Amino acid sequence: MWCGAGRVSDGFFHEGDLVGVLTTQPLDRLLDYKAPEGGCQIGAYVEVPLGPRKVLGVVWGDGRGDWDISKVRSVIRVLDAPPMRAEMQEFLAKAGAYTLTPMTAMLRLATRAPGLSDPPSMRKIYRYGTGQVDRMTPARQKVLAVLEEYGGLAFTLKELAEQAGVGTSVVKGLVSQGAVREEDSPRDLPFPRLDPGLPGKALNADQAAAVETLNTGEGYATTLLKGVTGSGKTEVYLEAVAACLKQGRQALVLLPEIALTSEFLTRVEARFGARPAEWHSGVTMTERRRVWKMVGQGEAQFVVGARSALFLPYRDLGLIVVDEEHDTSYKQEDGVLYNARDMAVLRASLCGAKVVLASATPSLESWANAEAGKYRRVELKTRFGSAVMPDMRAIDMRVEDLPGGRWVSPTLQGEIAARIERGEQSLIFLNRRGYAPVTLCRACGNQIGCDHCDARMVEHRFLKRLMCHQCGETKPIPTTCPSCEAEDRLAPIGPGVERMGEEVSALFPDARVAVLSSDLYGTARQLKAQIEAIADGAADVIIGTQLVAKGHNFPLLTLVGVIDADLGLQGSDLRAAERTFQLMRQVAGRAGRAEKPGLALLQTFQPEHPVIRAILSGDEEGFWRAEAAEREEAGVPPFGRMAGIVLSGPEVGAVFDLGNHLARNDAPLRRVGAQVFGPAPAPIARIRGRHRVRLLVKAPKGVALQQALADWTRPLKLKGDLRLSIDIDPQTFF
Ligand code: ADP
Ligand code: ZN
Repeated sequence: MWCGAGRVSDGFFHEGDLVGVLTTQPLDRLLDYKAPEGGCQIGAYVEVPLGPRKVLGVVWGDGRGDWDISKVRSVIRVLDAPPMRAEMQEFLAKAGAYTLTPMTAMLRLATRAPGLSDPPSMRKIYRYGTGQVDRMTPARQKVLAVLEEYGGLAFTLKELAEQAGVGTSVVKGLVSQGAVREEDSPRDLPFPRLDPGLPGKALNADQAAAVETLNTGEGYATTLLKGVTGSGKTEVYLEAVAACLKQGRQALVLLPEIALTSEFLTRVEARFGARPAEWHSGVTMTERRRVWKMVGQGEAQFVVGARSALFLPYRDLGLIVVDEEHDTSYKQEDGVLYNARDMAVLRASLCGAKVVLASATPSLESWANAEAGKYRRVELKTRFGSAVMPDMRAIDMRVEDLPGGRWVSPTLQGEIAARIERGEQSLIFLNRRGYAPVTLCRACGNQIGCDHCDARMVEHRFLKRLMCHQCGETKPIPTTCPSCEAEDRLAPIGPGVERMGEEVSALFPDARVAVLSSDLYGTARQLKAQIEAIADGAADVIIGTQLVAKGHNFPLLTLVGVIDADLGLQGSDLRAAERTFQLMRQVAGRAGRAEKPGLALLQTFQPEHPVIRAILSGDEEGFWRAEAAEREEAGVPPFGRMAGIVLSGPEVGAVFDLGNHLARNDAPLRRVGAQVFGPAPAPIARIRGRHRVRLLVKAPKGVALQQALADWTRPLKLKGDLRLSIDIDPQTFF
């Protein structure tokens, strides 16, 4: 229905012709309209009347003609943007079918920029001025702080006032003093040209061979680019970007943790003489619309962005790089549930682009696709220059002599002391935010939980709050037990990074200790500044969550201590072993990136565990082969298909009834050989006051699972406040 629905031969509709328009409104069909005066192209972005409103839409194909023709209204106008290309229509249709997402939601994903229907014009923008403020007020301070935070970026009046949380008159006041400058600017400026002809770095033999493979052949191909952190992968894929730009095509690099990419932008500028377009949550609304429009006009050659940058209207996309392709943040966990890595491959295959999946520790999916010959594979075996992978060892916590309430083993303590002595840095890794994961009442045994979720509140001493990591709810840290009302008997149990900071400071009173956790910094910019200061040597011991595992360069760092290497092994998650393996290898990769050799120490109670042994021995192929064999045996991804169904509602009985009803009426699933498990309470059985019940569907590879799921769930009538969501290829099980 959505794909190539009855195309007019030349793709042009004359005035009065019936067209089928896909809108962003939640309706389950195309709407018929008459083409406007002057006609319109298939794919045209249009404004159409819907009831009393005007809404955004795309001319998707012929109208159906099943409405009373006298009631069919006309398209109001065609927007000033190149029509959506057939390839993009097909991408949205296929991605929607794969993720079982309504097309209207897919279109929303593809038009996530404000003001697309505004006509092009001049507008006023605001940036830092040179004037002095004669009288500083808190409100004025806020405006200046926003301008400082976003560096040289310009804002519209409304955006600036909103970001600062003040009225527009405050901004105007600053303009009159010259502290803020008002300028006229065309709405959307093209991006500066990048020059792929500038010289890149001289590549070593491994890198040159890798570039050769990436750039071989015309059209679609996916290559897995594997190499330890610091082996020069970025340098290699920038050469693939250069080749793509030389052909006059557009390039896209997807990065996780997008807020922390200034280092990457600087490298692009050094290589190509200008910065790329950026697309992520930290980009202002005005800039988003500019990127969207310029990408469509081919006036942005190179985009660096978060996963949703995949849905921009590229004119001629020739390359998609997915850096850190195993990263879990590529899986969107709310709204449209898609995996950006898989969607990148889909999009590239439709537009004849190349894909580079770069990682030190690829996902098992990508590894298996390379093994099966679906992907090419290249490997950078050594670190660039003199740096080598660190020596890795386990600390057997069963024999370490450690008092209760302390987590740094004597062995680790000794190694840290030696580093401080030599002026080198150590990193203590613990993947737990906050001070303590549990607050226990010593009088009654109660553990303080969230009122809305089936989760315990985490103490955040820095913020002086208890926080639920599921729903974000916070409350003050109480002094009396909410259950038995005993006074002063509440005790923090277990460590978070804040508590580790306390312990390390007590062990080394003279050392400079820095705790790196996203919630300790007001803004991404502050966090970034702190990371840069640490890289320059501003701390002796760094304590961090998985935030530090991602790509930062600390040249003075020679020791990594993992406080609880067993933490990830406990989950019931099918990917627990894979995740632990990836995270530990990455964290270890932080040590010894410059000339000095590194050491990584893993505190564990299970040194014989196969995953811990694989991490220590560095036998990656061995680990993947064993892991693949186990999953193949169990018929789970990537050797079988899975889908997670989550039902939720305010009343647990009704949610279970619905789950049981689904489980009993599973004929559409059985027809394709799929099985359903459950219903069972979801691992987190309540979030934000909604009870959650889970069903899991397993199917052999190669069956039409989506169709079966659609047939299975379509007859359901969701009464009242019940919700159903389907997650194809679930990555997490919560
Ligand atoms: P990765 O992406 O694998 O972590 P990078 O591409 O960031 O590795 O390279 C690690 C470091 O080595 C960077 O500082 C980079 O500039 C440098 N480097 C990589 N390749 C070269 C090269 N061919 N010549 C000079 N420096 C290089
Ligand atoms: Zn909660």
